[in-house]
Amino acid sequence: MKSKKFVYSFDEGDGKDKKLLGGKGANLCEMTQIGLPVPPGFVITTEACLSYLDNKKDGLRPELSKEIHVAMAALEEKTGKKFGDHKDPLLVSVRSGAAMSMPGMMDTILNLGLNTKTVEGFIALTKDERFVYDLYRRLIQLFGSVALGMHDDDFSQIFNAIKKKNKVVQDVDLDGKALKEACDGFLNVVKEKTGKPFPQDPYDQLELAIASVFGSWSGKRAVDYRREFNITKEMANGTAVNICTMVFGNMGDDSATGVAFTRDPATGENRFFGEYMINAQGEDVVAGIRTPKPILKLRREMPDIYPELEKLRHTLEDHYREVQDLEFTIEKKKLYCLQTRNAKMGVSAFIRTSVDMVNEGLISEEEALLRIQPDMLEQLLHPRLDPNVQAEVLARGLPASPGAASGKIVFNADRAESQAKLGEKVILVREETKPDDIHGFFAAQGILTSRGGKTSHAAVVARSMGKPCVSGCEEIVINDMEKTAVISGITLREGDVITVDGTTGDVYKGKIATIEPEFVEDLLIILEWADELSDLQVMANADTPDAVAKAKKYGAVGVGLCRTERMFNQTERLPVVQKMILADTTEERQAALDQLLPFQRNDFKEIFRVMDGRPVTIRLLDPPIHEFLPSAEELFNEIAKLKNLKETVENMTDLPDTLKMVDPELGDRFSSNLELIIQGLEELKSKHLAGPMIEAKEAMLKKVKALAEINPMLGHRGVRLGITYPEIYAMQIRAVLEAAAEHIQEGGKVSPEIMIPQVCTLEELQFVHRYVTGISDEVQKKFGLEVPYKFGTMIEVVRACMRAGRIAELAEFISFGTNDLTQATFSFSREDAENKFLPLYEEREILQHNPFEVLDIKGVGRLMMITMEWARKTRPDLKVGICGEQGGHPDSIRFCHHIHMSYVSCSPPRVPIARLAAAHAKLKEKEYRIN
Ligand code: PEP
Ligand code: MG
Repeated sequence: MKSKKFVYSFDEGDGKDKKLLGGKGANLCEMTQIGLPVPPGFVITTEACLSYLDNKKDGLRPELSKEIHVAMAALEEKTGKKFGDHKDPLLVSVRSGAAMSMPGMMDTILNLGLNTKTVEGFIALTKDERFVYDLYRRLIQLFGSVALGMHDDDFSQIFNAIKKKNKVVQDVDLDGKALKEACDGFLNVVKEKTGKPFPQDPYDQLELAIASVFGSWSGKRAVDYRREFNITKEMANGTAVNICTMVFGNMGDDSATGVAFTRDPATGENRFFGEYMINAQGEDVVAGIRTPKPILKLRREMPDIYPELEKLRHTLEDHYREVQDLEFTIEKKKLYCLQTRNAKMGVSAFIRTSVDMVNEGLISEEEALLRIQPDMLEQLLHPRLDPNVQAEVLARGLPASPGAASGKIVFNADRAESQAKLGEKVILVREETKPDDIHGFFAAQGILTSRGGKTSHAAVVARSMGKPCVSGCEEIVINDMEKTAVISGITLREGDVITVDGTTGDVYKGKIATIEPEFVEDLLIILEWADELSDLQVMANADTPDAVAKAKKYGAVGVGLCRTERMFNQTERLPVVQKMILADTTEERQAALDQLLPFQRNDFKEIFRVMDGRPVTIRLLDPPIHEFLPSAEELFNEIAKLKNLKETVENMTDLPDTLKMVDPELGDRFSSNLELIIQGLEELKSKHLAGPMIEAKEAMLKKVKALAEINPMLGHRGVRLGITYPEIYAMQIRAVLEAAAEHIQEGGKVSPEIMIPQVCTLEELQFVHRYVTGISDEVQKKFGLEVPYKFGTMIEVVRACMRAGRIAELAEFISFGTNDLTQATFSFSREDAENKFLPLYEEREILQHNPFEVLDIKGVGRLMMITMEWARKTRPDLKVGICGEQGGHPDSIRFCHHIHMSYVSCSPPRVPIARLAAAHAKLKEKEYRIN
């Protein structure tokens, strides 16, 4: 068997094979092969690294050493110099470089090949003692700390003493003699600390350096970095080592070193951007010892070289078709390129360069789309914390809705509303939120809850409104009554300012500056290109006319989910909704519904007006109705307070006499004041306010107790409500169809889709459908026109999946409610799982992702595939969508494309992300695998 090849010269390595050669090595090979001025060198593969790490104690394997010697001999031939030659020594650098860039995480050693003898020869050759000793002291120090495990302090103490003796502050001010003294001191300290002299044999230096760079792959720094940035073995496994001939930017005023970007990385503008230093080494630029100059000055300082650098810039971009971040060195008027890589840029720069590069003919629209990761757009859509502000995190919850906001703490929705009316910015802090907190969401800048996951009520509502939310922050103990929140021993009160960052889940004390989103023009162009390519349509989950308008602005082609219960929660409507729930007879209930009808009809009409002909999917009432009532505990407390008041009022009349009996003087002194108070209380008593209020609250408490369920999310909700209280669904159906008829009468277009939640049998659907057809006939008669509509169902119950073939006989469309379907498939409570055991499941890799965030393709996804197969057998043109939270996540979108879904629906601010992800899904469809 042919043994594995571990070493590739820059002329032969495959520039596309970053896994084998590392990013840096692959690019050095590619640049060499397209004729760019790269100093000669070779790459030792990542496989060599892994094989070394398998058995470190034996050092480099003999077959690897042999290959290195052969490669060095070739390097000697190419450069005309010899490694270890006393007169004209070849010097090399040893640099790490894994498949994924891990800046500063692994080691590099420069100037290898210098020793006491070669130093002398090199001085004779360069006639520059200072220069050569400077190289040597850098080698000893780097080698000492990287390859011999010494402390930097061992060297800096000696160096600082020499600087002090020579009365200089900066390294560059030391002369050759002083630097020679530093080298001697460094050589001594190496011997003293390691018990061995600094290796004088250049090959010993080289092999030790290579072994230590290999070793740095499994060093703590690198391991931590990979964990932090989720760099898996599939992405990068082991580091390659690049051996490169040294070139020097510090060989006089005709030498320089610098770093540059082919375009401005901050703005994306197409202008050469970078910095350089004359007579300096790369490290000096990084160390900030001298201030580098902007690259354009080089045009004047080195007019012969500058055009070459410009040429390099264009060749790199033409070749890589990507903005490049390069390092260069000019050694005695000769330009070298030492490294290039794709530039890291802010998202607006990415977008601008994508559009520009297409206009310049450099890349295609497809390539322009693929270089922008959909999630990157998040930064453009929400305010975020100013990265320049350092602040201590007070607590950490779940990043439930992205964006950041500061405001004064309020503990209930009413207070949020009243404070906001006074112009205050508030953060609504609750244990968990309920539908009747909705006005608090409207009023607040952000939401913080101590319970609930990323699909909790708070999270879903905040996302649909584009407001930041941190949910499930269990470190916080909230006391609604006392209006306090205790976090790690700190007590926060109403009015205290906090900042919540819904992108990270962090909570801070005080106000932290935020940066407003920048919705750049070029993004619109990118998203148009995306739409042209995609098969999947992107709709929005939007419940109010405002949210629908926002969704349209973000490019939603329709509303995929309008949760109608959200319309019940506005301040003036909630009492009517409660009246409807508390009604004892159908007539009483109907009276309340008659009051609600115009509210809903107006909302729908407004939504139809905004969407003018685009599909609007309206889901009839879904949550258990007790969610519209206060909790039993709240009612209990309120009743107790009212009873207390009643008792106090009654007992007050006896107070003057009792006081006189106990202390006649005190009684006399306060008698007139007490009389006055008693008069007031008598008046209150005569109004009989407390009594009826107590009765009303007690009736409500009774109803709340009657409606209470052990598992409300699996209980009396969705279509089950529509069947037990058909008049509620009837009112909603009428509101939809009448609003549509009115809009048509006014000259508009409509495409309403009536969607039934929580369905598990065809018979449930048939029951509601009868109401729809009946009401549709009535509306047609009343308005003298036919309203076009579609009738369909959500699929969020496992039985509905199994009966999809039958359900599709009646349903003209289906929409996967993957929040509930995930809950039902896993039997994980969506309200609790995310802050109880799911984080540990992810950490222990029991689950790869939180299934409430990223669709569980293997389980829930499989169920969806079966459902679609059966449903489309019945109705081949069935429109199928997804409206659970996962619908806005790029990985889930890829799966939805793969199974030929018609659309995804997500919260309005995620619409642009989903549009780009849908295009990516199309462009990468061939390589998609379910594994
Ligand atoms: C779902 O279950 O995925 C869904 C969209 O409905 P909701 O979150 O309102 O239950
Ligand atoms: Mg649901």
